[in-house]
Amino acid sequence: MRLRCASCELRMDSRYFHVDEKNNLTGLSSICAICKQGGVAEQDYSNPIIFDVSKIAGCEFFGKNMKNNQKEVAEANKVIFASKCPTKYLENLISSYDTNELVQTQISQEIFNQKMFMLITGESFAKLTGDFKKDLELIGFHINYDLNDLDFISREMVRREFNHVCQYCGREGNSVDHMNPVSLSADNSIGNLTLSCAECNEIKGNMPYNLFKSLNDKLTTINAQLVEYEQLTKAMQAEFTKRRNLLIVKTHLKNVVNDPELNAIRKENKKFQDALDSLNSDYLDLRNTRRKYFESNFKLDKLTNRESLI
Ligand SMILES: [Zn+2]
Ligand SMILES: [Zn+2]
Repeated sequence: MRLRCASCELRMDSRYFHVDEKNNLTGLSSICAICKQGGVAEQDYSNPIIFDVSKIAGCEFFGKNMKNNQKEVAEANKVIFASKCPTKYLENLISSYDTNELVQTQISQEIFNQKMFMLITGESFAKLTGDFKKDLELIGFHINYDLNDLDFISREMVRREFNHVCQYCGREGNSVDHMNPVSLSADNSIGNLTLSCAECNEIKGNMPYNLFKSLNDKLTTINAQLVEYEQLTKAMQAEFTKRRNLLIVKTHLKNVVNDPELNAIRKENKKFQDALDSLNSDYLDLRNTRRKYFESNFKLDKLTNRESLI
């Protein structure tokens, strides 16, 4: 659930409003954790929606008494929100941070909140772009997305060990990775390394490793089909290149363009090209469907894992 902070007016995940005691939710605050960490007092702000939510959830509301008029709230907000960044970009930055474990392991919530508060108050300025990776750089966070400091020889060894086969889908793969990006460590033993294709690597990079693995384990039939498609398209492409080259050579030898034998070959090649196109399009369909399966399950997982609604 996303709630709006009464101080900075940004919308963010409800966990930013939690008032915890020994990891037990005791109440909700009128302002977000970023503003709170920046020294803003929750008692100075009312927040009718969060007030209602806290009533429904049966927990305490930490904020200003509800009888204040809206004008006063707006006045107070002005003092805080002096950022030149578009609200949307700030919100994007926060929600992307919330879902990116790799970034969280490198920037603590406290440091992140501190930086966000400076952006919100205008104390620090960056021309945000809405692109998470770029924006992190712009605000001075240098993330190492490839904590994989393996040397060339080790990579080659891993590729050979796995026979250049993606360990997730079975197609050709050459991307050497640590199994779990979250627990990235200095553990470069073969047991902690694996090989994947560019496609699996990209999908996997966007979601928690365990989720990717368990979803992928359910795709044995589809993955087997992908392997078949890959092999078939490769073989057909090779055959097609051979045919096309043969036609070029023959055309050159005969030195005529309009020749019955050449025309027959052209006709054959055209049919072959059509078959290859149709195969490629089916292959692409399957790949897109598989990608969507991961994406929608990741979305679903994010929603269901917010155990309580607030
Ligand atoms: Zn705030
Ligand atoms: Zn793969």
